[in-house]
Amino acid sequence: MDTKVGFIGLGIMGVPMSRNLLKAGFDLSVWNRTASKMDELEKEGARTGRSAAVVAEWSDVTITMLTDSDAVESVMTHDFNSVIAGAREGSVVIDMSTISPSVTRSIAEKLSEKGVHVLDAPVSGSLPGATSGTLSIMVGGDAEVFERCLPVFRAMGRVITHCGGSGMGQVTKLANQIIGMGNLAAMCEGIVFASRAGGSPDSLLKAFGAGAANSWMVENLGRKVFDGDFAPGFMVDLAQKDLRLVQEAAAELDVPLVTTPLVSQMFRAVQRAGNGREGIQAYVKAIETLAGIQARAN
Ligand code: NAP
Repeated sequence: MDTKVGFIGLGIMGVPMSRNLLKAGFDLSVWNRTASKMDELEKEGARTGRSAAVVAEWSDVTITMLTDSDAVESVMTHDFNSVIAGAREGSVVIDMSTISPSVTRSIAEKLSEKGVHVLDAPVSGSLPGATSGTLSIMVGGDAEVFERCLPVFRAMGRVITHCGGSGMGQVTKLANQIIGMGNLAAMCEGIVFASRAGGSPDSLLKAFGAGAANSWMVENLGRKVFDGDFAPGFMVDLAQKDLRLVQEAAAELDVPLVTTPLVSQMFRAVQRAGNGREGIQAYVKAIETLAGIQARAN
């Protein structure tokens, strides 16, 4: 494909998303702060840049997939190595990280002063969705720019939704996190409860998955909870960052939240126990500590 795409941030999500862009035939260049993480993609056909600015200069569409608001601000607008220094007038910058809606709008304003179009496009679907190219992508920004970028989004996602103006992708993603983390908390509680009574993993997961209790969490993380597999798809530390963003945005909107602060406190207990870099299924450890029993094999 003719469109030149730049991808900045080769973490757990960024690597498989970049790989899917390559597979779709885009002319891809990449940059990552820790340079060694670019090696694999270079072997697979991506060009590597020496800075975010260089990758942005090469690209019609520059994508960022970074940890948090500070990381995105720094990579986008900090100095001569940042995206803003390289991005060409008329090009598009898409931030796919989960960050604050207000920081998103402020970055979009700065880049638009240079004639650069900006979309916020956070995702849901975690590592399995990133790997299979089936992410749910929630996009904020100009509708015409959104339409223009659809072929790029389709290389990474299955359902791509235009949610409104700048920042509305992030707002939708934060609402998605309220629901998803609530589902996770309820699943872990249900598993510990039923395990205590002697329920078997196979029968519990079969029954949950077939009825009203089913969720992405049950389908993707239920078995991992029982197996004691806490390898990260989505890290506890990042989930906590999202729940902080939710609570900050809720305060700005003057909306009371009940479940989210509770889930956040439980994640804090998981972090205090030294498990912040484990996957979010480690939430069960906090429930197990409260209950004084273990639901899993190891
Ligand atoms: P990750 O594996 O921790 O990767 C983070 C990336 O950001 C790395 O490439 C890291 O570079 C880079 N980075 C961090 N701070 C930086 C800075 N100051 N300057 C330059 N680069 C910086 O995280 P991830 O799981 O891929 O998540 C990325 C984003 O997607 C987050 O906003 C997360 O909330 C969101 N998300 C994740 C999932 C999931 O399941 N993992 C699902 C949906 C959304 P280094 O390699 O140099 O550290």
